[in-house]
Amino acid sequence: MMFRTHILFALFFYLLFLKVFSLNISLIFAAVLVFGSILPDIDSPGSFVNRKYLLGVGKTVALFSNHRGFFHSIFGIMIFAVITLLIVYFFKFSFIYILALSLGYFLHLTADSLTKSGINWFWKSGNIKGKITTGSIFEQLFFVALLLATLYLVIGNQGLQQVSAFVSKIKP
Ligand SMILES: [Zn+2]
Repeated sequence: MMFRTHILFALFFYLLFLKVFSLNISLIFAAVLVFGSILPDIDSPGSFVNRKYLLGVGKTVALFSNHRGFFHSIFGIMIFAVITLLIVYFFKFSFIYILALSLGYFLHLTADSLTKSGINWFWKSGNIKGKITTGSIFEQLFFVALLLATLYLVIGNQGLQQVSAFVSKIKP
């Protein structure tokens, strides 16, 4: 999956979660979640996360791990959960951000499981795959569907009612 699909996938489930449990949005939680959702591609040298954020750290990781190898498994989630635990403990941030990062990471793996090559959830085993080819027209359609669903969650029923009220006013 492309990085923008991963970001949207994570945001969609976050907004859905907020709606279901009637919670308020936390922008920091959302930012950490989004970062977690692009982090697994640290094992791909040309990925967005490596080009934009990690300044060569990921390129070194990519030398030791195949793309969609170790870091695309639950062991990748565990390693980054421990790293995040150390960071939040050291800087006295809220422990909730461990959940945010792990959830974003998990949603990345879930989205990659919808692609044709899929991922091995247990590194060497537990392959789950779907029907989408990364970057194909199907991924673009998936992205657009996700975008509409996310916009719907943002604007909600109220927004739709306002739009229809507005449209009915401008009609002669
Ligand atoms: Zn990936």
